[in-house]
Amino acid sequence: MTTRILIKNGTIITFGSPCKVLEHQALLIEDGRIARIAPREAIPGPFDQVIDAAGQLVMPGLVNAHMHFYSTLVRGLGKAAPSATFQEVLDNLWWRLDRKLTLDDVQMSAEFILLDAIRKGTTTFVDHHASPFAISGSLDRIATAVKNVGVRACLCYEVSDRDGEDIITEGLEENAAFARRCAAEMDPQLRSLFGLHAAFTLSDRSLERAAVMGRDLGIGFHVHVAEAASDVALNLDRHGLTPVARLNRFQMLGRDTIAAHAVHVSPADMDLLAESGTFVAHNPQSNLNNAVGIADVQTLVQRGVRVGLGTDAMTVNMLEELRVGLWAQHLRQDNPTCAFMDLANTLVVRNPELASQLWGCPLGTLEEGAAADVILVDYHAPTPLDGNTVLGHLIFGISQASVDTTICAGRVLMAGKRLMIDVDEAALAARSRELATRLWERF
Ligand SMILES: [Zn+2]
Repeated sequence: MTTRILIKNGTIITFGSPCKVLEHQALLIEDGRIARIAPREAIPGPFDQVIDAAGQLVMPGLVNAHMHFYSTLVRGLGKAAPSATFQEVLDNLWWRLDRKLTLDDVQMSAEFILLDAIRKGTTTFVDHHASPFAISGSLDRIATAVKNVGVRACLCYEVSDRDGEDIITEGLEENAAFARRCAAEMDPQLRSLFGLHAAFTLSDRSLERAAVMGRDLGIGFHVHVAEAASDVALNLDRHGLTPVARLNRFQMLGRDTIAAHAVHVSPADMDLLAESGTFVAHNPQSNLNNAVGIADVQTLVQRGVRVGLGTDAMTVNMLEELRVGLWAQHLRQDNPTCAFMDLANTLVVRNPELASQLWGCPLGTLEEGAAADVILVDYHAPTPLDGNTVLGHLIFGISQASVDTTICAGRVLMAGKRLMIDVDEAALAARSRELATRLWERF
């Protein structure tokens, strides 16, 4: 039976290129897709549900191009030693933490942070997971969390050499097993990529094994690239190639591959990324926090690289990430008026493109035929709101507004700022604190 939801009286912001503002249009959802965008009177009933979006913006669910659900249980952990370099941040915090994660921790980390994502209107995630002593089945556990909450996620396991041969093999196989599951089920909420930590933690042999498996599975790679200067120095020192050139040597670049960060890339690296169509996920808050530098988004875009936006687990709020990205780019370029469109396009154009590519249907934009991932945001515009001004409103105003309603795949996950899913949040939080306490004891 067809489920029909009508959203009326809102101002529609389409995203995509160009990002349009549609007034006096209603939006009809049928069976998880946007069936019509037209004047209210042109869409005949009956409807299962009518949502009055007066005083609200109707926007697509937002897409996060680089995330680590597993970092949720680190919030407030004060035991990590002070770190002077990016390598020490990994050694003292992340690689200590991920080695102690259990499968229960992994599922909880995802489930809890995804409730917050619903509140922030982020409905699609590209996640990058590590739990080197709880690998087998970890992606299935994250998938269970994603299914329970009702959003979409593209998952992978980050293979690295740091824990030895058996762990490498287990990581490779976890990627393959989950990719086979996705191909078999074609679940509209789940997709997969082949995960790698970074070129500096992978030998040529490991890269070759992953490259062969990824190609056989027909999926792209999701890998940290040139996040810190030390990544580049280590690769040059050991292999005589930059991280980008090394991945290119193993034919791992391409339109299906996500290179997270690309902070320390040369002009030649940028050309390799552009020519191959590799998607760069820019994570400004993480880069600032780790003091690794600020990616030169302006030049990347000028040279033809597809640059989208991730949060690297700093937040699930994509509009906050976008704002910080713009301020950081101004500082990077020493220019307070540059790169506005370059940054805005990461979230408004490139992330929807990535999601559409991964899911094989229009996703992340409001158009007829697109996936019905829709959010309603409380917002009265104090200045004219149209196609010329919408991106300014997005960064300076809408980013500060609250999300009222979140719909993913035609399912209402939040309405009137109340979660509509079958999850007892207080009980989940209590259980999460229990697991975190035990994890911190092991840390
Ligand atoms: Zn990351």
